[in-house]
Amino acid sequence: MATAALLRATALDSRLSFQIVESVTTEVGPRLAGSPGDVRAVAWAEAKLKSLGFDTVWTEPVPIPAWERGEGTAEILTPFPQPLTITALGNSVATPPMGIEAEVVAFPTLEALAAAPADSLKGRIAYVGQRMWRTQDGSAYGAVVPMRSGAAAEAAKRGAVATLIRSVGTDTHRFPHTGMMRYEAGLPQIPVAALSNPDADLLERQLRHGKPVTVRLRLSPTTGPERQSRTVIAEIRGRERPEEIVLLGAHLDSWDLGTGAIDDGAGIGIVTAAATLIRDLPQRPRRTIRVVLFAAEEIGLVGGRAYAMAHRAELPNHVLATEADFGGGRVWRLETRLPEARRPEAKPFATALLPLGIALDGNEAHGGPDLGPMRAVGVPVLTLAQDGSDYFDVHHTADDTLDKIDPAALAQATAAYAIIAWLAAEGEGDLRSGAE
Ligand SMILES: [Zn+2]
Repeated sequence: MATAALLRATALDSRLSFQIVESVTTEVGPRLAGSPGDVRAVAWAEAKLKSLGFDTVWTEPVPIPAWERGEGTAEILTPFPQPLTITALGNSVATPPMGIEAEVVAFPTLEALAAAPADSLKGRIAYVGQRMWRTQDGSAYGAVVPMRSGAAAEAAKRGAVATLIRSVGTDTHRFPHTGMMRYEAGLPQIPVAALSNPDADLLERQLRHGKPVTVRLRLSPTTGPERQSRTVIAEIRGRERPEEIVLLGAHLDSWDLGTGAIDDGAGIGIVTAAATLIRDLPQRPRRTIRVVLFAAEEIGLVGGRAYAMAHRAELPNHVLATEADFGGGRVWRLETRLPEARRPEAKPFATALLPLGIALDGNEAHGGPDLGPMRAVGVPVLTLAQDGSDYFDVHHTADDTLDKIDPAALAQATAAYAIIAWLAAEGEGDLRSGAE
């Protein structure tokens, strides 16, 4: 516990996590999987981890589809002509070069669209206006994301020629939020874009006039042949049980609109700095700390699956995995995933985190988006829940930039990750036998 206190004090004083976010946003910036920025990000991460003195640094290949955004414009043609601020959703196909002009049919939710009769949208543009609400834990995101992923397929089933959605975001600024969408096999693939929240409001106000609202949409994304991205990995070798691994994850890729500061430069900064602070302690921890900067999270958790596959023989040696992918806010809650009888084993973690204002609460930790395949085969996970009240104001927008990061909050989150990782790497207890 004395070491935990030392780590906490050092981490709260350190600017290292912020400097790392500053470095990746300034020297790399946008790093959409498969783009030239992604290639630069891999080189940046390798060089950064080596310069920070990790024992080993290596990369692993991740084959990915290469999608590029191209250009996107939209405008209302009738009844009151006005331009609209939009962006394509990730994976969307293009419109014809001259665009698509059609009347808009609006639905409040994905469920309402899915209840519309067959062929009822023939030749129309479907618009879905589901709103996301603000929560500290970000749970509203999961509730609204099915609209983003599924609206185009539901609209195509009913004959629509294109789809527009309200941005999945909590802001009222004129930044559309991108994000991944999916087509369904056997259905026509129709283009889909997100309107910024104020533009969605504008479209809805024009629709309320009761006259036909027609929109012209032009999108030019392309999907190229498969490319290769890389997950970047670095280790601090354990002094006694180097084969046992505490995994600290974040994802290296970002969307292309902003500079990937909150998503997920912050996570890269937090886990890299946390591991570095542990390395700087007088004594190495008993077990190995492994930092994994996953490739291609945004476009479908590709790097997380590739890691679980490549390391499947080694997964039973992973004593804990946790991923930082929820911005730069303060950690307010530690969530576990343990059978009831073994929940007391979280006690040392909770005690060490209390001085940071973090409470032990909840037993349904998911650990992080890239850890799903590992969790499914029994790798123990913990979640350090960061305050996400304003995370979805800038998430997946052009406004995801360094100025949104509060260095003091980021240092607090870094301290929490450092403490958790050190306790798991040094402690006598073993969360593995309690894993579900
Ligand atoms: Zn992310």
